[in-house]
Amino acid sequence: MKYRLMDLLACPIDKTFPLKLIVLRESEASVHSAAGGPCELYCGRLAREVKPSDTPEALGCSTCMKTEVEEGVLYCTTCSRWYPILEGIPRLLPDQLRDREEDLKFLRRFKDRLPREVVEEGRPYNLSGGKEKPQR
Ligand SMILES: [Zn+2]
Ligand SMILES: [Zn+2]
Repeated sequence: MKYRLMDLLACPIDKTFPLKLIVLRESEASVHSAAGGPCELYCGRLAREVKPSDTPEALGCSTCMKTEVEEGVLYCTTCSRWYPILEGIPRLLPDQLRDREEDLKFLRRFKDRLPREVVEEGRPYNLSGGKEKPQR
């Protein structure tokens, strides 16, 4: 997904906007599409709201339109849910459509690079249960 998408994505459960983006891997998009124009409400790459005084040049949102987030996490600060971005696709699914094993596999793979609020307290699944609790 492009950073530009952060300007549109909300939590499917409670509609919280914007979501918090944690980037694990990014790449330059092979197709440079200017679709949508610069970020209008929230710039995911700068992680801040767009102010009326911002110019597209100052925001640098041409980068938002051509940079793909390949792997990462979208996190909702309202309900503590996290959503994986896999192979460039944000998986904003309700709990009942999520695959617990896949989610836990993802968390284990990236646990050293994700914040505690996701790894240990994220919903619907996290690594805090039983023997998977990190020893610190
Ligand atoms: Zn932007
Ligand atoms: Zn939420």
